[in-house]
Amino acid sequence: MDYRALAQKYDTPLYVYDFNEVAKNYHAVKNAFKARKSLVAYAVKANSNMSLLKLLADLGSGADCVSIGEVKRALLAGIPSYKIIFSGVGKRDDEIAEAIQKDILYINIESEAEAERVELIAKELGKVARVSFRVNPDIDPKTHPYISTGLSENKFGVDIETAKKLYLFAKKSPYLLPVGIHFHIGSQLTQLEPIKEASAIVAELAKSLQKIDIDLKFFDVGGGLGIRYKDEKTIEPYDYAQAILSTLSGTDYTIVTEPGRFIVGNAGVFLTRVLYEKQTASKRFIIVDGAMNDLLRPSLYDAYHEVEVVGKNGDATLADVVGPVCESGDFLAKDRLLPKTEHGDLIVVKSAGAYGFVMSSNYNTRPRPAEVALEDGKDRLIRERESFEYIIEKEIRFMV
Ligand SMILES: *Cc1c(COP(=O)(O)O)cnc(C)c1O
Repeated sequence: MDYRALAQKYDTPLYVYDFNEVAKNYHAVKNAFKARKSLVAYAVKANSNMSLLKLLADLGSGADCVSIGEVKRALLAGIPSYKIIFSGVGKRDDEIAEAIQKDILYINIESEAEAERVELIAKELGKVARVSFRVNPDIDPKTHPYISTGLSENKFGVDIETAKKLYLFAKKSPYLLPVGIHFHIGSQLTQLEPIKEASAIVAELAKSLQKIDIDLKFFDVGGGLGIRYKDEKTIEPYDYAQAILSTLSGTDYTIVTEPGRFIVGNAGVFLTRVLYEKQTASKRFIIVDGAMNDLLRPSLYDAYHEVEVVGKNGDATLADVVGPVCESGDFLAKDRLLPKTEHGDLIVVKSAGAYGFVMSSNYNTRPRPAEVALEDGKDRLIRERESFEYIIEKEIRFMV
């Protein structure tokens, strides 16, 4: 990637995604499960750019969505309704209704109250809602506490006993059709054992349901495959698939996976330019034009992203790379060995394809960055940089 040429052409701060890399990652997951019928339902929340979704639609991907907005994005991008899943712990009535009307593959239900709600809404619409229940297998995924979701202390899913009750409830209801079973124990998983344990527990439940004539078609293992940000030892998709399939012998479920980060994380970078250097009594700061409003992960999760000053090596000393936002928590990298920089130098922040742009905001009235796709050696704009007028449009009309 010629970062300098891209920064010159599109200005900074800028997100750049390698679509060939995205396709490669999609195929890696899909191929890992080739022994079975499978659906890769890309987790739209990781990066919901319409051109990216279109690319994934063309590759045959499905979509795992956590709002009706994401469902609509997926449909607009060309992902067929029968490949779309709607997950999430708090769905509004109107979202549930629209998902049922759009005839998506299934709704992932996360509580007893939600099951009743979905039934009621399906009844009102005179429809049968295809559903799956999210089981919380109470497994420690050994990842960051903010992104761990499979422990009983988390807000996600229902325990095994409740799940059984809910499947019976759904079986009896003329308005619910249980078609799947779902778990998702966390994000940025780098160990196989928790996944295998969770899969075994949920597979056991699925088999026990079969004995009482609840025949499920989809075994949905969620997302969470980790990527390398620094020096993590990550899981190979093949080993991931083997671990899951080893718990499913004697069954013929269609395997559904919901990878987000794995598909786009390392296919994207964030480009930002140096504004100034500043040396305080105790610290060296490199102040750049990108900030926490553009890339929140470092501030939110204390996440590590590799940073590099493009085309400079020189003598490196420790520095923090920080943005212009009025918060001490506004940093992109801390205590990194970096060469002396000058105004205009370009810094590349790696592994920024997932949970980057989608978490951006207009905090400090900063326009969201542009997004660019690289494909087969060509670059193209896939989201225009926001303008000041765009940011204030929803307010200015009401000014009296
Ligand atoms: C966030 C999420 C995913 C995707 O997680 P990644 O770590 O990006 O793979 C998949 N499924 C559900 C239900 C999620 O909430």
